[in-house]
Amino acid sequence: MAHPIRTLPDDGGAPGGSIDGSRYGGIPAAAGRALRGFCALILPTSCVGCGRHDTSLCRPCRRAFRRATVRPFRAEAGAGSLPLRDSDGPESVTGAPPAADDAGGGFEPLPVVAAGTYGGVVARVLLAFKNAGHTDLARPLAAALGGALLAARADLPAGPCLLVPVPTRGRSLRRRGYDPLGLLLDGLRRRGELPAGSLLARPVRHRHPGVRLDGRPAGIPWIAPARQGGQKGLGRRGRQENVAGSMRVRRRYRGRLEGVQCFVVDDVLTTGATLAEVVRVLRAEGAAVAGAVVLAATPPPSGAELAYSEFRRNRRGEG
Ligand SMILES: [Zn+2]
Repeated sequence: MAHPIRTLPDDGGAPGGSIDGSRYGGIPAAAGRALRGFCALILPTSCVGCGRHDTSLCRPCRRAFRRATVRPFRAEAGAGSLPLRDSDGPESVTGAPPAADDAGGGFEPLPVVAAGTYGGVVARVLLAFKNAGHTDLARPLAAALGGALLAARADLPAGPCLLVPVPTRGRSLRRRGYDPLGLLLDGLRRRGELPAGSLLARPVRHRHPGVRLDGRPAGIPWIAPARQGGQKGLGRRGRQENVAGSMRVRRRYRGRLEGVQCFVVDDVLTTGATLAEVVRVLRAEGAAVAGAVVLAATPPPSGAELAYSEFRRNRRGEG
């Protein structure tokens, strides 16, 4: 019998699919290209890492970025809003904040693999890419994300795996003109750099995209719309409240995710509240969420981050 993942709507998993700059989130291809070209024209060409050199990322900063992202590590310690890992069935999701040092007892947080720690050159490259139109930094960022995806995937049993990006808000897409995470994942897919057996899909969307691309209000606000301005600047409690109930599974994916092994993908892990919301809606559909993969994780307060190699050793010891 075919694995359920094979029957999912094609959302960009195959070459020529739709997760690319042209259709992702509904930005028309020409408009997206024009905007990116315009940004490239007006942006000053100095290194986003050090401010010197007539290039967006100079060679020393590129090397520093690579050094900082080449060894993926387990990053869930300290992200207090992550859901629990999927070990005892779908009811294990409680959203209860796990203790940072909880190493067992069935209350482990969802495993999160990060390419690097958020700070220094990693943060500067990511911010320039996300917020300053520097789409020319997609390659080093995609390489970092691809490495983290491979590391995370290597720890799962063989078989198909669905990569689910955290959805972009409509207003963010409109402001930027592109979807940063979508650009990275699509680049990896086009170059054949996604882990073997993985499929890229967008089964999750915001319940209230806020404003449509044409500027008119979208949807009927039968629940309070999420706070404007995303998660930035909010504490753990605020982030949880801001994001809880804010997402849903797209209609065409309903009833099709039962038993499907998934990884949620995001750019930055802070408290894990956003990941928790995506995991919640996937698990409500019966999906088996194995973990999450992020480009960068904010440093845990306890400094308890576990090197990925150490994590692998521990996992082998456990099993
Ligand atoms: Zn530099």
